Amino acid sequence: KLYNQVQDLKGSIRVYCRVRPFLPGQTSVLTTVDHIEDSTISIATPSKYSKEGRKSFTFNKVFGPSASQEAVFADTQPLIRSVLDGYNVCIFAYGQTGSGKTFTMMGPNELTEESLGVNYRALSDLFHLSSERKETFSYNISVQMLEIYNEQVRDLLATNGQTGRYPFTGLYIRNSSLDGINVPEATLVPVSTTSDVISLMNLGQKNRAVSATAMNDRSSRSHSCLTVHVQGRDLTSGATLRGSMHLVDLAGSERVDKSEVTGDRLKEAQYINKSLSALGDVIASLSQKNNHIPYRNSKLTQLLQDALGGQAKTLMFIHISPELETLGETLSTLKFAERVA
Ligand code: ADP
Ligand code: MG
Repeated sequence: KLYNQVQDLKGSIRVYCRVRPFLPGQTSVLTTVDHIEDSTISIATPSKYSKEGRKSFTFNKVFGPSASQEAVFADTQPLIRSVLDGYNVCIFAYGQTGSGKTFTMMGPNELTEESLGVNYRALSDLFHLSSERKETFSYNISVQMLEIYNEQVRDLLATNGQTGRYPFTGLYIRNSSLDGINVPEATLVPVSTTSDVISLMNLGQKNRAVSATAMNDRSSRSHSCLTVHVQGRDLTSGATLRGSMHLVDLAGSERVDKSEVTGDRLKEAQYINKSLSALGDVIASLSQKNNHIPYRNSKLTQLLQDALGGQAKTLMFIHISPELETLGETLSTLKFAERVA
């Protein structure tokens, strides 16, 4: 009991670490992962990084390479329930490009029932739980899908009747006293079934891909955010509530060598660095209970302002690639996570 209270006091940020398996064909590649146990991961490090030859990190839980999508989602379920009670929830995927962020949030390219990611499972749970309450509550659920690229907000669900249109860009983020943070120009689509959601996710992916051809795999250099808005009404008292859930696939966290890139690529890298460190700063100041929370330093933290801190609940999945050559990035991901945990 006391333990639970202490946990509550510590704030509502949970950090989960997931290690990607080796990809097909990578059987004899060297790994950095020394040992995984429950909530601790130990990384084998050459002496350049640590005298002991290994470094351990502890989080709320560590999922090894063989963890199923279902197992990874399991601990997220209580958060989904709280959205229907009127809470705001943020779920992030953080890690370098190729570490498995999109796999966790969406799933692999060829989706099967078992491989469905967090986004789909979370919405499916929302529908399921809201129908369980239908005698006492009426819920409206709708979604937006946004992308933040170079500090510009784009609408990934904009179609104007023609799928694949280059997504509407440069949207503003409004902070209204009446309904909090919102992006009024972004397409808002009511959803009531999981197949509605799948077709929207496909549209969003398509819109992302369209712009990617112009700029070469932009998906790793932009943040994508699926926002679910929930409105509920108590059928007996008439009281209403509002909850939201943001499912965020962050831009790749890898540092680019400034001496090697120029022009647009350098600008992108600087924007990514800026927004990921702004996110780290916000979460760290929330967990330290600082008075001033620096939300305004990036579009990402502005967009998520009322879903970070206060009564909101935050969950971060950090992703680790197992290959030895990614050691530097792996350690920097683990240190980022340690700072916000
Ligand atoms: P990111 O979004 O971080 O760039 P991806 O999610 O695209 O990384 O993952 C890179 C590759 O690894 C993809 O081919 C993906 O299907 C595969 N992959 C990632 N995580 C897993 C996992 N847990 N199990 C099996 N394959 C995975
Ligand atoms: Mg990705």
